[in-house]
Amino acid sequence: MSALLSSALSFLPTSLIWNNYTLTSLNFLFFYLTWLTLVLSHSPLKISILSTLIIRLLCFWLPALSITAFDLLLPDLSNGWKFHPSSVSMLPSTAPGLLLRAAINDALGLGLHALAVYALPFQLFPVSMTLPLLPTVIYDVLLSQMISSCLYYYLHRTVHYLWPALHAQHHSHPPTPLLAHAQNPADYLLLSLLPTYLAPVLRRTHILTFLIVLAVQCGVDVMRFSGYSGLWGMAGGLSRRTEGHYYNRGTCYFGIWGVLDYLHGTSPASLEADAKRTFGRAKQRAKDEWDAGLAKAAGDKPLPGLPMPKAKKLTKARPKGGEGVVTRSRRRKADS
Ligand SMILES: [Zn+2]
Repeated sequence: MSALLSSALSFLPTSLIWNNYTLTSLNFLFFYLTWLTLVLSHSPLKISILSTLIIRLLCFWLPALSITAFDLLLPDLSNGWKFHPSSVSMLPSTAPGLLLRAAINDALGLGLHALAVYALPFQLFPVSMTLPLLPTVIYDVLLSQMISSCLYYYLHRTVHYLWPALHAQHHSHPPTPLLAHAQNPADYLLLSLLPTYLAPVLRRTHILTFLIVLAVQCGVDVMRFSGYSGLWGMAGGLSRRTEGHYYNRGTCYFGIWGVLDYLHGTSPASLEADAKRTFGRAKQRAKDEWDAGLAKAAGDKPLPGLPMPKAKKLTKARPKGGEGVVTRSRRRKADS
């Protein structure tokens, strides 16, 4: 009996693994057949534009509008989780404008994508029947995220110092998801579209890989601009750094993941330490200049080291012979 039970138990994990493997294989086969049908029945232009639109709708617009609706419908509840209550209180008057600007910018991005797919002599992102290999997909997604983050940091910092007027619209509101794409169109092209598209275009990644890259970027945008203070892990870090960038009026946290801010000393802790060092140096310089001035006034001779005057011992002075003290005999004398 025990031998039968142990053989049954040893068989159970194998069957589970086998079932999972079979299910994964069947899912993959089903996905591949769907993809094959799609590629054979539709033009690459149509697939490229519609799939990009669907990813933008699902990964950016759906979560961004859901969070905005929550902030508008339950402001008291939402206020408790936000870094800035003003990001909720301002929304009833600012939401239509943010929605319009974000929609125009995303339409512009999609229009440029369609133009590039239509006009270029080669496929922007190949729509082929063969699927990309999993290691290639992972490599391309990580590389795209790395290049996109680096480009965003340097462009964002440059825009802040060289063209603050171009970027001002993006700082016209505390962080809220719609603000991620609601900015000046030129600012959007420079800080949002270019970093997202550069690596996939240079690598000419498969359209499916590009869609994953775009989905990741949309998710990161929503988390960064959520404005919520209670998020965990990476989402919490993204939200906190964006809040820090807005709270400090664009003087720190120019990057997305915080790595380049740490390396270039543009995180608030580094800036504070730098300011302390600068203040210490300025204080020392002022002291040196003061000493040099005194030395010059004393005929280019250093001031003599004068001894410190000794403090006198304070003693309470008592009236001599009891002067001023009213005694019984003195009162009698005064009365007579
Ligand atoms: Zn900024």
